Amino acid sequence: MVASVVEDKALERELFAVGTRLANALPSNARRPLKALDDKAMDLASRDAELKAALFRFVDVVPACRNPDDLARHLTGFLREVDEPPQPIAVAMRMGASRTGRAALGRAAATGVKHMAHRFIVGEDPAAAMGDLRDLWKDGVASSVDLLGEATVTQAEAQRYAARCSDALETLVAASAKWPERPRLERDSAGPLPRANLSVKVSALTPLLRPDAPERGKRDAAERLRGLLREARDLGAHLHIDMESLDSRDAVLELVLELLAETEFRDGPSAGLVLQAYLRDSPETLDTILAWLSGPGAARAQPLTVRLVKGAYWDHEIVEARQHGWQVPVFDVKADSDHNFELLTRRLLDARVGGSGVRVAIASHNLRSIAHAIAYNRRSGGRDEDLELQVLRGLGDPLQEAIAAQDLRVRAYCPVGDLVAGMAYLVRRLLENTSNDSFLADQAAGKPIEALLAPPYAEPVVAE
Ligand SMILES: Cc1cc2nc3c(=O)[nH]c(=O)nc-3n(C[C@H](O)[C@H](O)[C@H](O)COP(=O)(O)OP(=O)(O)OC[C@H]3O[C@@H](n4cnc5c(N)ncnc54)[C@H](O)[C@@H]3O)c2cc1C
Repeated sequence: MVASVVEDKALERELFAVGTRLANALPSNARRPLKALDDKAMDLASRDAELKAALFRFVDVVPACRNPDDLARHLTGFLREVDEPPQPIAVAMRMGASRTGRAALGRAAATGVKHMAHRFIVGEDPAAAMGDLRDLWKDGVASSVDLLGEATVTQAEAQRYAARCSDALETLVAASAKWPERPRLERDSAGPLPRANLSVKVSALTPLLRPDAPERGKRDAAERLRGLLREARDLGAHLHIDMESLDSRDAVLELVLELLAETEFRDGPSAGLVLQAYLRDSPETLDTILAWLSGPGAARAQPLTVRLVKGAYWDHEIVEARQHGWQVPVFDVKADSDHNFELLTRRLLDARVGGSGVRVAIASHNLRSIAHAIAYNRRSGGRDEDLELQVLRGLGDPLQEAIAAQDLRVRAYCPVGDLVAGMAYLVRRLLENTSNDSFLADQAAGKPIEALLAPPYAEPVVAE
């Protein structure tokens, strides 16, 4: 694939203009009082490591608590580990000293956690989520549904997950058929885009996905994934396969590419996979995907959607590698991940313009990463309609509004499930939102737009 000749300075100028326009279109917290409250709690947590650890341990035990009294005991117990609690926390701990105070505190904590969870999770099941998904669509935002679940350790659980996915596909297709037309969301220059879009995890489709015996896990997951691909094809839905930690990456990639190349999937469904830019070897993974597109995948009627992300398992990969004395597979400098994300964005967009059969989806809440993709796409001769931007429900809500307001295609990844299933997901999102190396934390801390949009290796801008 020949890289486009895009001049760096012109690209940075365009990127800055795009990023500034998006930033100006971000809705203010004034219109979202509840969100402002959540942000305050997260801000409090991100400034105090002990408090953060205590709150996250609390959030983790919430589903196991039987009543408000139990909940309040746990909360005050965890908070006692914080040496110098900020004012609101000190008040909560005093309330925990009496029985009536505990009941009130427990109820408030339960409401708080539920509210926080609802920010990230759209409903307890697909039918309950349809109202929110329709509202998003009406506002110019497409969605991808992710069914939350606990770890799959038995065949029965894998079977149950596959059955839930199958029900979700049917519910999504039936309900979305009644949505109003939104041309920006349902067509690009390669053809129609399904309204119903489901993201699935291979680790939930088999209990046997282990790094020491990848073939067994692949074989076991293959039958269930084939079933879902058939159903998505027959219903005209999109099926997206998420990427998880590195120990399953190769098995997932091989499985998806092998199944999609089978004759029965030549005409469909529309499908996609995920590329993680925090992995040092991600450029080679992209080589594999592009080689497949010009080889076994070339006969497919539908393009392959590649969702580019940085990667959600950074801490896990670091700990895992150190424990085993392995070389760390992820970048350990944030700017390296950001830089690699931009290089992969360019390669994907160049491949698309070159007619390789790829649809590009850039998934990030980082204004610079998003603005870079939009600007590079334009400068390299691509059309806006051929670039999709994706955000996570709850983390990217303001950004998705700003993107939709620019008449660009945006899709929100919407987890569905109950509070118990959602806890691990919620804790991961909270960790991400309060991490020191996070764009969202920088943005919340009020960094100037010049710093937020600066290239990955630019000197840090010191606040006055
Ligand atoms: C729609 C959507 C779907 C997603 N699907 C998946 C998926 O299937 N699989 C998956 O793994 N993730 C997935 N993610 C999550 C994604 O990988 C990121 O965790 C998340 O989007 C944060 O990245 P950012 O660009 O938004 O924010 P930024 O703040 O710019 O980047 C944060 C990311 O940088 C990386 N990072 C943090 N610290 C360091 C460091 N010290 N050195 C190097 N790198 C560092 C980590 O990847 C971290 O998540 C998805 C995200 C979205 C929006």
